[in-house]
Amino acid sequence: MDASIPSGMKQNVKLARYTTYKIGGPARYFVAAKSEQEIAEAVLWAGKEGVPYFILGGGSNILVSDKGFDGLVIKIKNLKFEIKNFIVEAEAGVDLPFLVAETISHGLKGIEWASGIPGTFGGAIRGNAGAFGGEIKDILVSCRFLDEKGNVRTFSNKECGFSYRNSIFKQHPDYVILSATLAFEEGDKETLKKFSKDTMSYRAARHPLEYGSCGSIFKAIDVNDIRISNFEHYPRFRTSIKADPFPVVPAACFIDEAGLKGYRIGGAMVSGKHPNFFVNYKRARAEDVLMLINVARHRLIDTFGVMTEEEVQYVGF
Ligand SMILES: Cc1cc2nc3c(=O)[nH]c(=O)nc-3n(C[C@H](O)[C@H](O)[C@H](O)COP(=O)(O)OP(=O)(O)OC[C@H]3O[C@@H](n4cnc5c(N)ncnc54)[C@H](O)[C@@H]3O)c2cc1C
Repeated sequence: MDASIPSGMKQNVKLARYTTYKIGGPARYFVAAKSEQEIAEAVLWAGKEGVPYFILGGGSNILVSDKGFDGLVIKIKNLKFEIKNFIVEAEAGVDLPFLVAETISHGLKGIEWASGIPGTFGGAIRGNAGAFGGEIKDILVSCRFLDEKGNVRTFSNKECGFSYRNSIFKQHPDYVILSATLAFEEGDKETLKKFSKDTMSYRAARHPLEYGSCGSIFKAIDVNDIRISNFEHYPRFRTSIKADPFPVVPAACFIDEAGLKGYRIGGAMVSGKHPNFFVNYKRARAEDVLMLINVARHRLIDTFGVMTEEEVQYVGF
């Protein structure tokens, strides 16, 4: 063990087990930071040693390279969580499914749409996670974070710059989300529980949850970016338009029409159940998934003239 490594920090830690894809090589350094102070210390250590760092939440929106990450992975594990009337204060490492279940059990309405989204609260804020017409931005009051100089700052909802699967934190990878405050409305506990259960059943029926994945690979496509001729040739595109969070056609429709359902490279496969999920069906390498993404991207450009943007975040490539 290198003498300059702080206690609690490990070396050569396989990242596959920290991701929902179950893919990825080792982190050169790895630390699980259980408090704001430990997060700040880890960031400071990386800066002092000139080592790049990566902030890891629940690993449910990332594809980690087979070579791993040649730097420090800081696994966010600060877990304080408090409900005061209709206000919730939660630290970034809190498990999102736990936050959803706890607020529902207190009859708080506002995040029930997130039932079944894996990962941490911090990861959900960074990507402005959303589903079934809801987004994190709808209930977030303010967010505390560590800036690039190591200062703890607070942004209001507006300052977080939320948009579709986007926030200021995505634009500033140096910012580390520490905690946030959410405001809820009063809801009926039983109605919320039923909604949550139905949402999970919907997901189980339509998503390939039996395989490792990172959820949707591509963002949905803005109808304004789709050629009129596509709507004429493929009537399904028009009937699939969803106003969530603005008029879009799900990327899955394009991938399906392009004939890619079930397409495989190595151990990675375009799901037959939900074609925007590229699953790890058999010991896939990151390289397999990456090639599959590139095939799909080019097929969508060639067939429909449609440009796609990944939701998945790449680590160590
Ligand atoms: C089966 C399945 C279904 C899904 N369904 C949905 C869905 O319906 N809607 C949706 O929006 N997403 C969905 N996702 C994607 C994913 O769960 C979300 O994007 C989730 O919010 C990511 O959180 P995470 O903690 O796992 O982030 P990670 O995957 O760990 O990280 C993602 C990015 O966020 C950064 N990050 C994480 N924590 C912090 C922090 N504290 N500060 C700064 N940066 C941070 C990381 O550095 C990384 O760049 C799904 C994924 C799966 C596997």
